[in-house]
Amino acid sequence: MISRRHLLKTGLLGTAVLPLLVPRRSRAAIADVDVIVIGAGIAGLAAARRLVDLGYETIVLEADAIAGGRVKTDWSLDAPFEVGAGWIHGPDGNPVSALAEAVDAGPFVTDDESYQVFAANGDPVSAGDIEAGYRRLEKLYAAIDDELDDDMALSKAISRMGGKLKSDPILGWMTSAYTEFSTGGPIEKLSAYYFDEDGVYPGEDVVLTRGYDSIVKHLARDLDIRLNTRVTAISYEKGEGALVSTDAGEFESSFVICTVPLGVLKAGAIRFDPPLPKAHRRGIESIGMGNVTKLALKFDEAFWPDDVQYFGLMTETRGRWNYFLNYRTFSEENILLGLCVGDYARKVEAMSDADMVADCMDAVRSMFGAGSPDPVAHLVTRWSTNPNSLGAYSYSAVGSKPAHFDNLATPIADTVLLAGEHTNFEYHATVHGAYQSGLNAAQIIEDRLAG
Ligand SMILES: Cc1cc2nc3c(=O)[nH]c(=O)nc-3n(C[C@H](O)[C@H](O)[C@H](O)COP(=O)(O)OP(=O)(O)OC[C@H]3O[C@@H](n4cnc5c(N)ncnc54)[C@H](O)[C@@H]3O)c2cc1C
Repeated sequence: MISRRHLLKTGLLGTAVLPLLVPRRSRAAIADVDVIVIGAGIAGLAAARRLVDLGYETIVLEADAIAGGRVKTDWSLDAPFEVGAGWIHGPDGNPVSALAEAVDAGPFVTDDESYQVFAANGDPVSAGDIEAGYRRLEKLYAAIDDELDDDMALSKAISRMGGKLKSDPILGWMTSAYTEFSTGGPIEKLSAYYFDEDGVYPGEDVVLTRGYDSIVKHLARDLDIRLNTRVTAISYEKGEGALVSTDAGEFESSFVICTVPLGVLKAGAIRFDPPLPKAHRRGIESIGMGNVTKLALKFDEAFWPDDVQYFGLMTETRGRWNYFLNYRTFSEENILLGLCVGDYARKVEAMSDADMVADCMDAVRSMFGAGSPDPVAHLVTRWSTNPNSLGAYSYSAVGSKPAHFDNLATPIADTVLLAGEHTNFEYHATVHGAYQSGLNAAQIIEDRLAG
C-alpha cells in the first residue's frame, strides 16, 4: 500500500493535514518517516503493526537486542521460562487470547484451586484454613472499600480495619502472595483506595506452553525494527513533528509514540524538549513502579507432587519466595518457579545468582524437606535493575489516582504520544493493557492523519 505520507510528499492528497507534516530540524537524520515508535514491547508492536497495516511509514527504535520488552521467553531449560509476563490474565474476551490463538501458542489453564500451602516451619496448612483466611481477606478489603474516608497505604488501612498482619500469618501471606504479586507494589506503598480498582477479563488464567514470545514474533513480522538503538532525547513542536536522538544517530517523524516503561520515564533516561506537560510529569512521579523476581529451578527429578498447580510458603520475611508454580503440571521438565514480590523482590535482585538460589532452596527445603537436592540449572530475572524497564509493572501508589494513568495517554503538542501498560488504568500491569494502549495511540494518529 502507498503510504499517506508518500501521497502527501507527492502532493496527491489535500492540504488539510499538511501543517502537521512540514520538514523539521535535522538534515542528517537517518530516516524521516510518518511515525517513530519507541520501544518494541507489546504496546509498541501493536501500534507499529496497526500503522504499517494502514500504510504509514513507521520505524520502531528499540534499545534491547531483541523485540518483546517485558514479554520474553527463555527456552534454555527445555521448557518456556517466561522472563516477563507468564499468564494471560482473564482469557475470555481478552485481545491477547485472540493473538495466542492465531499463533497456536498452546494455552494451558492453570488451576487456582489446586494448591498446597505451608506454614513458615514447613507444616502443611489445611485447605479449610486457607479458605477461611481468604474470607477474612475479602471482608477486610470490602471494609476498606466501604469505610475508608481517606486514602492511605494498604498496610495502614488493613490494620485500621482490624487486620493483624503479624499475628495472622495466613492473612499476612495472602496480602503478599496475592496482592503484592498481582499489583507489583509493596502494601506499605499501595493505595488502599485504588490498588484493586482496575478491570479484569473473566476466565481462569492461562500460560502459553509454546511460549508467550510467539505473540511477539507474530506482531513483529515485517516491521522495520532498529534493535540496539537507545533513544536519549525527543525534541518536538506542534506542526513541526519530532527529532528523536539515539545512540545510533537521529531520526525524524511527524509523530512519535513513546512506549518506554514507567521506570525509564521516572529515571529521566529520555530528555523531552520541551519538557513533558505538568499533568504527564505528575503521573510519572505519582504512579508506582513495582517489582517481581522469578527464579526457575530445574532438578533431575521431581521430589514434589506433580499434580499440584501452586505451592505457597508463609515465609516470615514478607514477599520472600512465598509462591511457586509447578511446571510438572504442563511440562515434562522438573522445574519449580519461585517468586519474590514487593520490597523483597528488589532486595533479592542485589544478590549473586548463587546466593539467590541458596535463598530460594532454603524455602524449597522448608516445604519438601532438608534432603531436597540442589538444582542442576536455574534462571533468574532482575527487572528492577534492567535499564530498559527499571521495574516490573506499574501500580496505584498512595497519592496516585486512576486519572494519572489515563492522562499519560493524552497527546502532547499533537505530536508525541505515550503508550504502554502504565498509560491504561483499566488494564495496567498487563500484556492486554499494553496491547490496547498501543492500538489506542495508533488510532489517535490515524484520526489525525485522516484529517
Ligand atoms: C516479571 C513480570 C511478570 C509479569 N507477569 C504478567 C502476567 O502474567 N500477565 C500479564 O498480562 N502481564 C504481566 N506482566 C506485565 C506485562 O509484561 C507488561 O505490562 C507488558 O509486557 C508491558 O508492555 P509495554 O509495551 O508497555 O512495555 P515493554 O514491554 O517494557 O516495552 C517497552 C520497550 O521499550 C524499550 N526501551 C526502554 N528504554 C528505551 C530507550 N531509551 N530507547 C529505546 N527503547 C527503549 C524496552 O527495551 C522495551 O522493549 C509481567 C511483567 C513482568 C516484568
